[in-house]
Amino acid sequence: MQVHLVNPSHVSFGVGVITPRWLFVIAAATPAAFGDPRITDETLEPLDVGTIRQGDVVGIGIHTGNALRGYEIGRAARAAGASVVFGGIHATLYPEEAHELGGAHAIVKGDGDAIWGTVIADCTNGTPQRIYDGGRIEAGSFKPARWDLLPEGRYMWASVQTVRGCPKHCSFCSVWRTDGQRPRQRPSDAVVEEIVELRRKGFRFIALADDNFYPVTLTDLHQASRRADPSRLEQLKALRQDRFELMERLAKLPSDMVFYTQITMEASEDPEFLEAMHRAHIKGALVGIESVTADGLKDIYKGFNATGDELVARLRAFRRHGVHVLGSFIFGLPSDNPTTFDATAALAEQAELTFAQFVMLTPFPGTVDFAEWEKTIDPAQSIAGVPISRHWLIPQASRPKVYTPHPVMSADEIRQRTQAVWDRFYSLEQIWKRSGCVTSLRARLAFVLISKLYRQMYANTGIATDSARVNRSARWARVIAKPCRRLFAAKPMPHLAIP
Ligand code: SF4
Repeated sequence: MQVHLVNPSHVSFGVGVITPRWLFVIAAATPAAFGDPRITDETLEPLDVGTIRQGDVVGIGIHTGNALRGYEIGRAARAAGASVVFGGIHATLYPEEAHELGGAHAIVKGDGDAIWGTVIADCTNGTPQRIYDGGRIEAGSFKPARWDLLPEGRYMWASVQTVRGCPKHCSFCSVWRTDGQRPRQRPSDAVVEEIVELRRKGFRFIALADDNFYPVTLTDLHQASRRADPSRLEQLKALRQDRFELMERLAKLPSDMVFYTQITMEASEDPEFLEAMHRAHIKGALVGIESVTADGLKDIYKGFNATGDELVARLRAFRRHGVHVLGSFIFGLPSDNPTTFDATAALAEQAELTFAQFVMLTPFPGTVDFAEWEKTIDPAQSIAGVPISRHWLIPQASRPKVYTPHPVMSADEIRQRTQAVWDRFYSLEQIWKRSGCVTSLRARLAFVLISKLYRQMYANTGIATDSARVNRSARWARVIAKPCRRLFAAKPMPHLAIP
C-alpha cells in the first residue's frame, strides 16, 4: 500500500516559486508504518495516474481555485482502486461536493496534522468515515514539515509557518473563518529548527507562510489597556513578546538569509516591530492594500488601512526599514470607477512598492462577500451547465473573470483596465527603475527576470480571456522559471548549528 499526496493544478511550470507546505506537513503526519508518501505537486508536473494502484490511499488538498482539477484526480484515483481523501480549505467548506464530484471516500475538515494517521488506518481497514473533523489544533501540535522529501532543485522559496489564524475579518477573505481569529503561534524552537534544516539544504529564501505575521497591533494593546480586567492586555503582550523572541532568533541565522511574510499595514506604525523585522532578515512582505480610496476600504471592512498621503507614508515606512512590499490591490469594488485604475497604478509607483498584484474581486466561498453575493444570484443562471454560484466548477476556459455586476463598469472593462495596470507596473522601464533597490548589475538583471516571471505566472495566465495568450504566457513562464530558480539557490550549509 502506498500513500500519495497530490497538490492539484491545471497548469504546470516545471519549477515552483514556493513549496506547497501542506504536502510536506501531511507527509510528516503520515505514520512511519505506512512508509514515505509519494508527493506530487502539479504546479511542477501533472500527476501520473499510472502510479496509483488498488488499495493505495490518495490525499488531495484543495482550495477553491484548484478544486475542479482535484475532483478530476479524485475520480481517476478511485477508478484505479485507491481510497480517496480530500482535505484543505475548500473541502472543509464543501465536504459533500468532494463526495459528489471528486470520488471521495472521506473528507478531512480543518487541520489535518493530528487526524491524518487515523484516516489512513481507517482507509486501509476498509472503514473510512465520510467526514473527519480535524478541528483547530494548538500551535504546539503543528507538525514540522518533512523537508527530507523535497525534490532537489525544483523550488525557489521554501515555506515555514509561524502562526495560523488572523484576528481581522476582511469581507473577501476566508482565513479568519477557517483558521480562526485567535492567532496560534508556534514555539520559536520548532520554527528555527525547520529553517536551519532548510538552510543546511541550500535554501536561503524562505516564505513565512502565515495568515498574518503581525497579529497584535498597537491599537489592540491600547484598547486592551483601557479595560478594567487586565487579562486581555496580558494575553496580547505575551503574544507580541513571542513574536519578538522569534525575530531575535531569526536574527542569529546566517546573514544571507531572506525571509518574506504577509502582514497588515498597521505594522508600519510600529517602528520597534519594523526594526526587529529588519534585524531578523525579513526583507519582504505582502501587504493587503486592496483599495486606494476610503469608500473602497469600507466596501471590504478594511477601514484600518490608510488612504492618500498617509497610505504612501505608511508603505514607505516598510521600505525605510528594509522591508520590500508586495502590494496587493483589488479591482471591481462597488465604489471603483474608471479613474480608480490609474490612481492605483500611480500610488503603487509613488509608494515605492517593489512588487504588486492587481486582482479582480471574486466572491470566494467562506467569505462574507460570497454569502452576500450568493443571495443576489439567480439560481437558474449557469455556464456550461454549472450554476454561476458554483463558479469554481465551471471549466477553466469558460470561467468568467468578473462575477459581481458593477454599478458603472462592464465586466470586460474591469478586466481590460486591470490588465492595463499590470502592463504599466511591469513595463520594462518601470521594472528597471525599481531594480535600483539592488546594487550590482547581476542583481538588477535578476530582478528584471523575476519581475517578468511573476507577471507571466500571475497576471497573464489569470486575467487573459484568450486561450492563445494564456498558453503563450505559461510557456514563457516555463522557460524563464528555470534560470530564475538558480538565482535563488545557495551553497548548502550542512553543518549549520541551531542558534
Ligand atoms: S485579508 Fe489578511 S488581514 Fe484580512 S482577514 Fe484575511 S488574513 Fe486577515
